[in-house]
Amino acid sequence: MRYVNVAINLPVKNLFKQFTYALTQEFNYIGAGWRVIVPFARQTTEGFVVGEAGKDLPQPENYKEVQAVIGTEPWFDEEMLEAARWLAGYYMCPLAEAMRLFIPGKSSIKRHAVYGDDGKLLYYELENRLKEKTQSCYAITESGRQALAEGNKRAKAQMAALQFLAEAGRELTSKELEEEGFSAAVLRALVQKGWCSRSEQRVLRNSYASAAALKQSFSLTDEQQNAVNAVAKAINEGRQETFLLQGVTGSGKTEVYLNLTAAALAKDRQVLVLVPEIALTAQIVKRYQSWFKGSIAVVHSKLSASERADVFYKIRTGEAQILIGVRSAVFAPFANLGLVIIDEEHDQSYKQEERPCYHAREVALHRAAYFGVPVILGSATPSIESYYDAIMKRFTHLRLTGRPNGQPLPEVQIVDMRKELQEKNFSVLSRTLQQELVRTAAAGEQAIVLLNRRGYSTFVMCRDCGETITCPHCAVALVYHEAGKAMRCHYCGNTMPIPTECPKCGSKRIKFFGTGTQKAEAQIAALPEVRVLRMDQDSTLRKFAHEEILSAFASGKYNVLIGTQMVAKGHDIPNVTLVGVLSADSALNMPDFRASERAFSLLTQAAGRAGRGDKPGHVILQVYDADNRTVQLAAKQDYDTFAQEELERRRELNYPPYAAFLKITVWDKDEARANDTAQGLTDFLRQKAEGMDADVFGPFAGIIGKVRDLYRVNVLVKSVQIERR
Ligand code: ADP
Ligand code: ZN
Ligand code: ZN
Repeated sequence: MRYVNVAINLPVKNLFKQFTYALTQEFNYIGAGWRVIVPFARQTTEGFVVGEAGKDLPQPENYKEVQAVIGTEPWFDEEMLEAARWLAGYYMCPLAEAMRLFIPGKSSIKRHAVYGDDGKLLYYELENRLKEKTQSCYAITESGRQALAEGNKRAKAQMAALQFLAEAGRELTSKELEEEGFSAAVLRALVQKGWCSRSEQRVLRNSYASAAALKQSFSLTDEQQNAVNAVAKAINEGRQETFLLQGVTGSGKTEVYLNLTAAALAKDRQVLVLVPEIALTAQIVKRYQSWFKGSIAVVHSKLSASERADVFYKIRTGEAQILIGVRSAVFAPFANLGLVIIDEEHDQSYKQEERPCYHAREVALHRAAYFGVPVILGSATPSIESYYDAIMKRFTHLRLTGRPNGQPLPEVQIVDMRKELQEKNFSVLSRTLQQELVRTAAAGEQAIVLLNRRGYSTFVMCRDCGETITCPHCAVALVYHEAGKAMRCHYCGNTMPIPTECPKCGSKRIKFFGTGTQKAEAQIAALPEVRVLRMDQDSTLRKFAHEEILSAFASGKYNVLIGTQMVAKGHDIPNVTLVGVLSADSALNMPDFRASERAFSLLTQAAGRAGRGDKPGHVILQVYDADNRTVQLAAKQDYDTFAQEELERRRELNYPPYAAFLKITVWDKDEARANDTAQGLTDFLRQKAEGMDADVFGPFAGIIGKVRDLYRVNVLVKSVQIERR
């Protein structure tokens, strides 16, 4: 008898152990990587076989047996198992939790309780949830050909169907045949007479099947060609190398990706393309489809488990060579990976902040290293970490400095909203922006208005000088807490009363900020000539809402698109000549050491939407603090200066990439107990950290101190001694 170790696939947060099960003769063919059904704690559940148990087990007769095997092959190959182990170790989660990321849907089985006549629970019936959708396919047989040759006047419809099948020269689906007017009854008759064969084949659900192609072709610029050559060399040599492709918005990064994808396919390898959000996926998918037709699979965050299973199946079997997807696509079962592309690599959506926590960029780099294949990180505003790696020559730095059509970057104008107030304009729109919106609409051009809502109402700012109240120890904005009528720092836990006057200018006009998309929409809609369309969380709940909104806007039916962050990203609408950003500096006030980095990137992305066609673009940034360094550098679109200054600041404060943070969160229903546990942990860690290059901060309440009746208390460890990757 063999014994295997199994990671139990149950969402139990602290199931760090694996359990040993016996393999009966019937299942002796399986090994590590298989998914199985095992008895566990008086129920039946799914488990992942992670390896053989040791030879000399104490009392082997005591082990329970594997009850069933899921699927016809192991789900995890050696590479996936290794990646899951690394992930569990690096991000400190149970192995099963890490492995679950690699399967489509949280579990592949559903349990139905079966009750006896007496109403008592008898057992659970297990159902495979990943239903494979099949369809009937028909092909003409040899005797069918004979019958056709002989002809039959009475069975006209049957003869016509045979003729059609013979001419097609391949299997046809029932759908194809029905569309030609051949009924199910006719097909049944053909099968009965043996003139036609029928088989059930798996239908792969492909939600993007109908996306229209959009072929373009240019000759590459010198910079693009250099980038392509450098990466293609690594692809051809089968070598892991990470490239940072830093290119201003509209510089033709996507064109580089397409060429390199072609290079990888030419070597018969698969390509993973990660993109931040669905809103962006449609655009890039269309461009990929115009180049590569059918070999593309897509993962977006609104796929059902079954759709995801189909996508993964296509990747595993090699039926699809290209996978384009959001962060979870990084876990696809690649058979033969050859290249990884991470577009907008700085984007926050690559980071999963709930358990199991992971960063898709880190996972991609890890998997690429195993496969020995290159990774391209593309961005106009790289993450400070990646930029640092490029400077330190760990990544190869490639640059695209201009737009291929010679179009200059848009002209950016900063509007000081304090002046607007002083001059009695109480609208959320500055007079300049109002005028420009009307002018743009009248000229038959289009505008995008970004309302930067993140961080609203939570920070405290002076209305006269724009000063934000920050923590004296951490250089991050303090967060206003209504309950305590106080401000608190979420890095060191420091609490301060709300000042009655501004520490900088002495003004008494201290404000908590807030305004909504709808209010702004109403004010814009009131302008002459303007037809406004809104895109935010509320308006994009449905599956293809993003795409529909963007295509309605692109069609010209509307001339102003207003929305949150999502309007700033990725799309390429040539008729957009104006971009306005309301409260452009509000993202700076988030209680996060990455606030400046995020604000800079958002402003640059937003500005990059303007002037992508042949008309020049114009950008208006409305701010409360016109002197802010980040806003000014963003207006100049001077990423390099920004990044160098930001790195200097991070070095002084010992922030990433110069140190690493480890956040430990204690969750408890009981507030006092949460605090006690966190305090105990803090004391313990402080003691351990003594003599090491590590600082322990806390305990302090999470930004949202209580979620679903659980209190959250954080402890933060900062150290230069944490290994990366
Ligand atoms: P990015 O991904 O850097 O934002 P894109 O690849 O979307 O840039 O390119 C911006 C625009 O320039 C697109 O419309 C694209 O078709 C066009 N483009 C890209 N490369 C070239 C080129 N070499 N010659 C002419 N036009 C190009
Ligand atoms: Zn002030
Ligand atoms: Zn602080």
